[in-house]
Amino acid sequence: MGKIISIYGLPAAGKTTQAELLFKKYGLYQFGMGDKLRAEINANTALGQKAKEMVSKGFLVPDEVIRGILQNVKKQAQETGIVFDGFPRMIPQAELLEEMLGEINLEVDLFILLRISSEEAARRISDRSESGGRADDKDPKVVNSRMEVFRKESLPLIDHYTKLGKFVEIDGEKSISEVFAEIENHL
Ligand code: AMP
Repeated sequence: MGKIISIYGLPAAGKTTQAELLFKKYGLYQFGMGDKLRAEINANTALGQKAKEMVSKGFLVPDEVIRGILQNVKKQAQETGIVFDGFPRMIPQAELLEEMLGEINLEVDLFILLRISSEEAARRISDRSESGGRADDKDPKVVNSRMEVFRKESLPLIDHYTKLGKFVEIDGEKSISEVFAEIENHL
């Protein structure tokens, strides 16, 4: 299908779940920014060392780290298309992505906001922290910072992609399959 899609939303909105479904059904390269950062941190690479503190506090990592993580993105965009999960998360990142894709004559096709309430996000994160091992899910202060980052950055991003005619909002509190069906309606 070769599209470039970005899935955005509060922590635990279902971004990775839907990105995985898009990978399975359409072969889009699944680019989870948070997953890639955690992999770098766990492997203690130079990029991981630069990202570690910000990720542990729930703040966005600097652009220089993001650029490093995005290294192979043009190749993946050309070969299979990409579903980004958790990227872009602020306007300079959206501009960086546009610049990179522009170099290969591509553009973001769809920016999808999975809308869930803060209460639902808090519930899901609490459930996930009991079953999973993400440190940034366990500390309420860090969870709060991540929600705050979303509140601060989301309006400009929504505005940006609305102006480009690429913005779609989907109710992320529906079931996984209902959300996926709605995403497919927009492809
Ligand atoms: P996530 O797995 O999407 O919840 O992301 C976990 C953490 O990784 C975030 O709280 C940030 O510290 C970092 N992160 C993920 N995506 C980005 C991004 N696009 N820009 C900067 N930092 C990010």
